[in-house]
Amino acid sequence: MTHVFHRQLKSPLPVAVSGQGAYIIDSTGKRYLDASGGAAVSCLGHSDAEVVAAVKAQLDSLPFAHTGFFTTEAMEELADRLVAAAPRPAGEAAARTRTLDKVYFVSGGSEAVEAALKLARQACLDRGEPGRDLFIARRQSYHGNTLGALAVGGNAWRREPFQPLLMPAEHIAPCYAYREQLAGESDADYGLRAADALEEKIQEVGAHRVIAFVAETVVGATLGAVPPAPGYFRRIRDICDRHGILLILDEVMSGMGRTGHLFACAEDGVVPDLLCIAKGLGAGYQPLGAVLCSAGIYDTIQGGTGYFQHGHTYSGHAAACAGGLAVQKAIAARDLMPRVRKMGTALSERLQARFGNHPFVGDLRGRGLFQGMELVADRGAKTPFDPSLKLNARIKARAMEAGLICYPMGGTIDGVRGDHVLLAPPFIVEEAQLDELTDKLAQALDAALADIAHPAA
Ligand code: PMP
Repeated sequence: MTHVFHRQLKSPLPVAVSGQGAYIIDSTGKRYLDASGGAAVSCLGHSDAEVVAAVKAQLDSLPFAHTGFFTTEAMEELADRLVAAAPRPAGEAAARTRTLDKVYFVSGGSEAVEAALKLARQACLDRGEPGRDLFIARRQSYHGNTLGALAVGGNAWRREPFQPLLMPAEHIAPCYAYREQLAGESDADYGLRAADALEEKIQEVGAHRVIAFVAETVVGATLGAVPPAPGYFRRIRDICDRHGILLILDEVMSGMGRTGHLFACAEDGVVPDLLCIAKGLGAGYQPLGAVLCSAGIYDTIQGGTGYFQHGHTYSGHAAACAGGLAVQKAIAARDLMPRVRKMGTALSERLQARFGNHPFVGDLRGRGLFQGMELVADRGAKTPFDPSLKLNARIKARAMEAGLICYPMGGTIDGVRGDHVLLAPPFIVEEAQLDELTDKLAQALDAALADIAHPAA
């Protein structure tokens, strides 16, 4: 009998006992290829000796020092590296204020989003604009499960039970070409049209009320690795600038190299005012998240209130920062970003070859080692499967049976839940493991589809 409970209260879970590269082994000795890094976390696999040694060394010297009293070398060095790698604003007069050169460390993604929301609000107060009290975000997005992050998240079924407790936030449509791009519309035109939904919403609510626009650079859990259309975020940046609205990009899932670039937004040519990262930052070796903050926001708060009215006991935990630093060193020393781009292409080619003509696969998309597959009951009409069939849960169960960890989810598409599978294998994945991934995924998908075609009596 277990005394632990998880989000799924009805079925028991296998006991994970060890990790070997891209594999997790359970207490029965069964091996699972971890093709989703849990949820895009384990970017270096499960047994990286250098990261483990760095965490151990920090535990030996000093496990924890409260950030109300101290900084640590690991935290400082990690911040230096992140700032050095962050995308830079190009040739703007405001380049210095826009530069992401301060880092606030937390313990995970939801905490990073909460901190970013509060930094944005405090910057408005400190620049004398207390009337800015509203965030705009996007439908079908996920920013975390704490109440602030849930309020800006646009995932209807997650928000529903907690709605009365959530702060008001406005939502616009996501940039989601598969379902929103019009026939005959170019990618670039669609990107601009999708971004203009923000302008419309700002006109509706009044620019003077808006603190910030919040978006995932590449949409992860809710839609399954949906990248923005070309030009979308550049237009979003222009709209925000014209109205004095801050831009918060959530790269908790898509950042830290997942897309083949340490910061996903570098590929879109935009620099946000606040950039949230987590997951791959600690790579599962330690719980760690961070907000990169522009010099402009930092200076505003420093010259105003003088302190950030926030903080958690474990902010900037020394052993977590040592782990994060070792992960960054490993990515640089092993030149993993070109590898992610190469293996990402190899994965997407395999998915196209295997599922491109599959009658129930509507769309394949993604960037780098962050790939998604959307499942539909009818390819032509793009009709989602009936949510009561629980296709995504069945795929997850069948994949686990086959020894594959992938991340199937049901998103909400205009009030209808649709199913997709998210793939985020480790950066160290080998070509042969990509074959294993594709074979096992095909097996799991076929078994799950057979389950719904012929439900057990
Ligand atoms: N933002 C995004 C984009 C995420 O994918 C997640 C986690 N799935 C979060 C925020 C929340 O992160 P955490 O679970 O670490 O709190």
